[in-house]
Amino acid sequence: MNLEIFNQSKEYMPGGVNSPVRSFNGMGITPKVIKKGHGVIIEDEDGKEYIDFVLAWGPMILGHCDEDVVKAICECAKDALAFGAPTKGELDLAKFLCEEMPNVDMIRMVNSGTEATMSAIKLARGWTKRDKIVKFAGCYHGHFDGFLIEAGSGVLTDGIAGSLGVPKDIVKNTIIARYNDEENIKEIFNKYGNEIACVIIEPVAGNMGVMKSKESFMKTLREECDKNGSLLIFDEVMSGFRASYQGASALFKEKPDLITYAKVIGGGLPCGAYGGRREIMEMLAPLGGVYQAGTMSGNPVVVSAGLATLNKLKENKEKYYNHIEEVGKILVDGVKEISKKYGINVAFNRVGGMMTIFFSDDEVVDSYEKVKKCDGERFKRYFLHMIEKGFNIPPSQFEALFLSVYHNKEHIEKFLKAYEEFCIKESN
Ligand SMILES: *Cc1c(COP(=O)(O)O)cnc(C)c1O
Repeated sequence: MNLEIFNQSKEYMPGGVNSPVRSFNGMGITPKVIKKGHGVIIEDEDGKEYIDFVLAWGPMILGHCDEDVVKAICECAKDALAFGAPTKGELDLAKFLCEEMPNVDMIRMVNSGTEATMSAIKLARGWTKRDKIVKFAGCYHGHFDGFLIEAGSGVLTDGIAGSLGVPKDIVKNTIIARYNDEENIKEIFNKYGNEIACVIIEPVAGNMGVMKSKESFMKTLREECDKNGSLLIFDEVMSGFRASYQGASALFKEKPDLITYAKVIGGGLPCGAYGGRREIMEMLAPLGGVYQAGTMSGNPVVVSAGLATLNKLKENKEKYYNHIEEVGKILVDGVKEISKKYGINVAFNRVGGMMTIFFSDDEVVDSYEKVKKCDGERFKRYFLHMIEKGFNIPPSQFEALFLSVYHNKEHIEKFLKAYEEFCIKESN
């Protein structure tokens, strides 16, 4: 069934998919067509089950079809699908994010992570009256034109240097910097300082594999932005509620001016948001001159799923996040130990519930340059082995594995057992 459905899909949808990374491009197999999921187990159209470490690329931190989230969606849908008018639910979600997340005074809901980042950039440009933006090679901020230059995620995997269809006039306003390289960012500010509207960064990157910004690097970013009147934007679309309950923002002393969210905050439905300093947010229409709108923004059903998810995370904060730390540590320690035993060189980066095993000769992978040196062929063999053994993992070295609150020690032990079988094959 998988194959029949996918082959038909290719007739009607480019590549058979609605988002490129789903196609397993370069991995030599066709993707699994997924029928259902509960907790951390998903099932494909052939009836084969997988322990899921992709979790819809991050959002499903409460596992698939969490009872409370589904209930909230069903309850809401009886009375409210869409009005294009203010609702109490969107107030509750906005209040939640402003009260629980650091550095968010006001928030605007949108429908995806891409929309959140591109809107935050527009706001930063409006605020500073400048055009240039700085992004880091390997970071992914969605498919907006100005970001598709040295982007991570699917753009990296497919080896596309950017994308066709991006006007030269837009490219010239995006400056590409090197992640975790202080000298490089200083040079850029020396040269372009008074033209830079903002620097956008994944403070804990997930789209070139998981990698945390160094403290000194973040300090330099904040200083350079302040010196030059540029804004600092944290893209927490992936790291929000994942790197920690309060996201990556809680892991750094430096405060961003704007933050973007999506993924977890939508509880599995399409969602995004951007927020930050009040005086900047008040520049948005209808209060100010930066126009951004959306028919479905703050949609009642989406908001109900998001709220149910976030409330549950808040109520069980200690329990959930300690649990993720605990199983995460077992996974990391296990993979390192097994790899060593069979002479497989790996570096393992984990921040909270997001992590990447790098098949790397470098013990520490803390730059995009090092990620690019990883053994892609070995990764491919690992991916094919794991999926065959019933583990849904991302089909790329440049993506993150995700944990949900329902991954238990048994799931991790199974993963480690399969991983050991892979290492045995590799060492022969
Ligand atoms: C997924 C992601 C995006 C894009 O979000 P979409 O909802 O896919 O548009 C942007 N930034 C980061 C850091 C992401 O991980």
